[in-house]
Amino acid sequence: MIRSSVQHLSPYTPGEQPKVPGIIKLNTNENAYPPSPRVAEALRAFDCAKLARYPDPMCVKLREKICITDGNACGTPNNIFVGNGSDEVLRLMVDAFVENNGTVAYFNPSYSLYPVLTDIREARRFEIPLPRPGNFVAETLAALRRGKPDLLFTANPNAPTSEFYPVDAIREICGNFPGVVVIDEAYALFAEDNCVRLALSLPNAIVARTMSKAWSLAGLRLGYAIGPEPLIDALCKIKDSYNVDFLAQIAAEAAFSDPGRMLANRAKIIATRGRVATELRRRSWQCADSATNFIWASPPPPLKAADVNEHLKSKNIFVRWFPGETTGDFLRITVGTDAEMDAFLNAV
Ligand code: PMP
Repeated sequence: MIRSSVQHLSPYTPGEQPKVPGIIKLNTNENAYPPSPRVAEALRAFDCAKLARYPDPMCVKLREKICITDGNACGTPNNIFVGNGSDEVLRLMVDAFVENNGTVAYFNPSYSLYPVLTDIREARRFEIPLPRPGNFVAETLAALRRGKPDLLFTANPNAPTSEFYPVDAIREICGNFPGVVVIDEAYALFAEDNCVRLALSLPNAIVARTMSKAWSLAGLRLGYAIGPEPLIDALCKIKDSYNVDFLAQIAAEAAFSDPGRMLANRAKIIATRGRVATELRRRSWQCADSATNFIWASPPPPLKAADVNEHLKSKNIFVRWFPGETTGDFLRITVGTDAEMDAFLNAV
């Protein structure tokens, strides 16, 4: 009864969402601070009688708002596609841009949803060992020539390694690759640059964004894509009719009307990130240069990341440890409030 590829599928494993009171939750890269109070105001003012009707299938107002608000020159609403979290947007990209029996390329380590989306489509996985920043373009292009994928997923900044790859490097890859390059910018608002303008200037680049991180709205499930109209139109063709609910549209519009709150939260997180990374390095941890709201760090021997993870859990502090050759020596630590990070530093 169940398709054999689904029977054999290893599903994506989300980070734990423990419901124990008093825990310090640094394991799923949520924002440590609440969203703009305008979100609560908009939801309180919402007339629930409206829920008897379907929401706007094309999120017209929200797409206009994204164009006006986002300081990245997002083009016009025709360059924007909105989805139920960026995970949905990424899934639709595989459906829209990958042929049956096609190939999906992604880096390792990177966001572990990419291989799962590939398996769901029964496409071929083509994994590229994540190059060091200096070799990024040459090694990626050589791999793409070998694998001939339909689509390349690149998270920039990358998760879980937290590092940012320069826009020029992504441009060179897009210009020398005939398939679609998806630039997953879940964390780009914590970096100093981004690929939005690039995506609007090329036929084969598309950016995916989320309101789950910098905008403090992970519970809302709102993500969007920015890119050339033909790619955006393809996503519109295959989406569910009403893929973004009324309340999510209203709340997201309210958040976008107050970018100042997001930027203030972002500034606090970046300051805390710098302080914690400096302290970990002082204690001889190996710490990547983070352009995100998390820190990718490896404890000094004889400490083992897996043991530190267990020790933290015993103290009700949750971080993320990914077993495996490329990730097992590291912990991914979401940047929380200063008080939460002090508790973390005391515990390690
Ligand atoms: N991309 C990356 C790289 C992520 O880490 C995440 C969060 N797990 C997502 C996309 C998904 O974000 P959303 O909450 O919008 O589905």
